Order: sequence, then C-alpha cells, then structure tokens
Amino acid sequence: AAKAKGRDEFALFDEAIDRAARKRRQIETELRQAIEGDQLRLYYQPIMDLDSSAISAFEVLVRWNHPRRGLLTPDEFLPIAEDSGLILPLGYWVIRNSLNELREWDGDFRIAINLSVTQMRDAQLVPTIRELLVTTGIAPERVEFEITESVLIRDGDAGLGTMRRLRDLGASMALDDFGTGYSSLSYLRSYPFDRIKIDRNFVVDITASEEARAIVGTIAQLADALGMYTIAEGVENAEQLALLRKLGCDEAQGFFIQKPMAGAEIDQHMFEATDAGEDDGVLNYRRA
Ligand code: C2E
Ligand code: MG
Ligand code: MG
Ligand code: MG
Repeated sequence: AAKAKGRDEFALFDEAIDRAARKRRQIETELRQAIEGDQLRLYYQPIMDLDSSAISAFEVLVRWNHPRRGLLTPDEFLPIAEDSGLILPLGYWVIRNSLNELREWDGDFRIAINLSVTQMRDAQLVPTIRELLVTTGIAPERVEFEITESVLIRDGDAGLGTMRRLRDLGASMALDDFGTGYSSLSYLRSYPFDRIKIDRNFVVDITASEEARAIVGTIAQLADALGMYTIAEGVENAEQLALLRKLGCDEAQGFFIQKPMAGAEIDQHMFEATDAGEDDGVLNYRRA
C-alpha cells in the first residue's frame, strides 16, 4: 500500500510539473504575440530632485496588457521573457518606444531604462541604441540605463565592457536595487556608475529604524565621496521623504511622489502642474 501511495503522489507531482511547464509554454507563446501585436505598454514613474522638488527623470516600466488577464506587471512575465530569450525583442521594443515617446515631451529630464543580464550580453545592444539615438535625435545625456548587481556577478568583465560602451555613447548608468543581494562595495569602485539607487527595503525602515537611517546616510556619503548621485526608491510617505532629504539623498521616487503612469497621462498632467498651487515640495512639479 505504501508503495502504491508513493506512486500516486509521484504521479500527482509529475502532473503538477507538467501543468506548470504547459502554462509556461503558453505564456511564452502569448508573450511572443504580445510583443508583435501591440499589447505591451510603457509606464513612467517620475524621479524627483530633492533640492528643487522638480522632476529630474522618468523611469520606464513595462506592462503587458493581456487580452484576458488585463494589465500585468513585470514580475508576471519578465522571468519567462528572460528564460526564453524573449527579453531581447521585448527590451528593444521598450527602448525604441520610450525614446520615441520622449521625443514628444518638452523638458530636459532624463529617461531611465532597465536592462537585464541577457540584454547586457547581447552584441546588438550598443549598436542598436546608438542607432536609435541618432534616428530619434534624443541627446544621449538624457538617457540612463539601470542594471542590478546580478549583471556584474554573472558577467563581470562583459558587463563592464557594455557599461563602458554605453557611457561612451554619452548615456549614464545607475546601479539598481542597491543594498539587496550581495552588494559588494567593490562594485562601486570597479564599475563606472553615475548613480546608486537605494533599494526600497531600506527606505521602508528609515522612519522606525536607526540602523536603516545610518545605512542610507552612509550610502549617500559614500556616493558623494565617489562622485556619484543617489536615488532613493519606494518612498511611500512624507516622513520618509523628509528624512531622505536630511540624509543627503539627491533624488527620490515612489508612490508618495507619483505612481507609474501611462505616457498619455504625462504630457497632460505633469507639465500643467508646472506652476500650480502652493509649493509643498512634493506634489507640485516643476521641470528641472
Ligand atoms: P525596478 O527597476 O527596481 O523598478 C521599481 C519597481 O518598484 C517598479 O515595479 C515600481 O512600480 C515599483 N515601485 C515604485 N515606487 C514604489 C513604492 O513606493 N512602493 C512599492 N511597493 N513599489 C514601488 P514594477 O514596475 O513592477 O517593475 C519591477 C521590476 O521589473 C523593475 O524593478 C525592473 O527590474 C523590471 N523591469 C520593469 N520594466 C522593465 C523593462 O522594460 N526592461 C527590463 N529589463 N526590466 C524591467
Ligand atoms: Mg529600475
Ligand atoms: Mg529598483
Ligand atoms: Mg549627495
């Protein structure tokens, strides 16, 4: 009986794996169609300069407007895109469309585009970006690329080579999610980052935890000493924002400042707000 039961459980387990694999393949097929079929959407989240309270940048965040499941966030499809190689066509779609959309907006804010390990490894990445900068006429200085330390762990030298070539184009580089994972300080010394993005795990804790405040303050000082700027991620209330200012962070982003929004919402709203209302330093934006 024990043996039979073991076999049943094994069969069930097998079936579950099978189902998961089928689901994955289905999502992969659908995602391929999504990239070709105009189902991807770009959302933009403002990044605020903490000295002037002006918007200094927008981070580009991809969404998938799935015909049945609605608007999906990256955690629901980027892992599959990364494993299947679809991250490359998806990533080029994001770069091309965000640069094109940027052309429609006034202002001299930056645009920040996320790049994954696979994208950083792709030999076509730098030439394609170079060409897109030429055809769109976007000043390379307005474009920042965000990578996480996983690029440097998995691909140290190749990652460094790609970073250098992107910076040679005139673009800047940010280290995303700093403070998660291993976050070796040697990355800051060995790789030419312009900005460090302090992960929201630290930001969440700064109002309650002396240690979190000390860590954020130390990262800000270290960045200063190394000639880099800091962006605090995931700011969700006024208290956090005030503390981040005090601790010497240069820029901040988060739901308290603004949630990611569709491009169409931006030209209507962001630039109208330019000289509106009293200056509470938070919700009234001025162009940098
Ligand atoms: P990320 O680059 O660290 O982006 C910040 C994430 O934090 C975004 O999640 C954003 O919506 C979320 N966020 C912003 N403010 C707050 C806040 O105040 N509270 C909380 N709880 N969350 C906040 P999202 O859009 O789901 O993106 C997740 C990740 O997917 C990104 O993390 C980035 O690594 C990746 N990603 C997004 N778009 C792209 C893309 O076009 N290409 C690549 N390669 N990766 C992308
Ligand atoms: Mg990012
Ligand atoms: Mg991040
Ligand atoms: Mg500073």
